[in-house]
Amino acid sequence: MTKDQTRETPNQSLVASPKVDEAMSALMTEARLAARWSDLSPDVRAAHHRILRAYIADGAPPNISEFSTEIRGELSRRDLVHIRDGKIALAYPFSTAVTDFAVRAAGVEMHAICAIDALGVAAMIQHETKVTCLCPVCRAPMALTIAADGLTMTNVTDPTARVWTGVMEVGSCAADSQCTSMRMFCSPEHLEVWRSDRPGMRGFDLTLEEGVQLGAEIFRAFLREPAEPGPEAVDT
Ligand SMILES: [Zn+2]
Repeated sequence: MTKDQTRETPNQSLVASPKVDEAMSALMTEARLAARWSDLSPDVRAAHHRILRAYIADGAPPNISEFSTEIRGELSRRDLVHIRDGKIALAYPFSTAVTDFAVRAAGVEMHAICAIDALGVAAMIQHETKVTCLCPVCRAPMALTIAADGLTMTNVTDPTARVWTGVMEVGSCAADSQCTSMRMFCSPEHLEVWRSDRPGMRGFDLTLEEGVQLGAEIFRAFLREPAEPGPEAVDT
């Protein structure tokens, strides 16, 4: 695969690992993709992009007063942006509140909702990011740099880290369900410790590289302009 193909084509056929392909299908079902992206109006898409770009530029969302009630409702119904206490609380992959998943790009610090979201930011913004996640068991920080291609990893502090991607019923807000089970662990042992407290939980135990691939697959098309193939054009 050439870098050009990677950049221009967001479909899952580029995924190197079959496990990532399987995880992608489990997480991003056709129904969920359709609920998010089908018939997205230009106004709603522009508002969505405006919100994401504010997080990227400032590490914080814009004021909700910039957006009409109708647009806010539409973004929320599509599980793209959620407003709490009169403020934008999250817009995947970003969280307004500080989380265990920090992303630094072009001198701006952002926080992601979960590990997969943090790992997908580089692909979405086509810019190098430094991702730092905390192990939920021992709170040890793990860092890596992801290149602007969204896939190439360098400066990996914990090459044996694992990324757990839980598969849960997603209600109206993935951040409250799915995302709570997407974590990065300092070691296979600490993933096992965490999983032993959650018997029966479904999910995928991914390497760091697979986690980056999955994040890139999910977020690569989020900031595409309408003239380009958007997330709704992803082949499934
Ligand atoms: Zn740990």
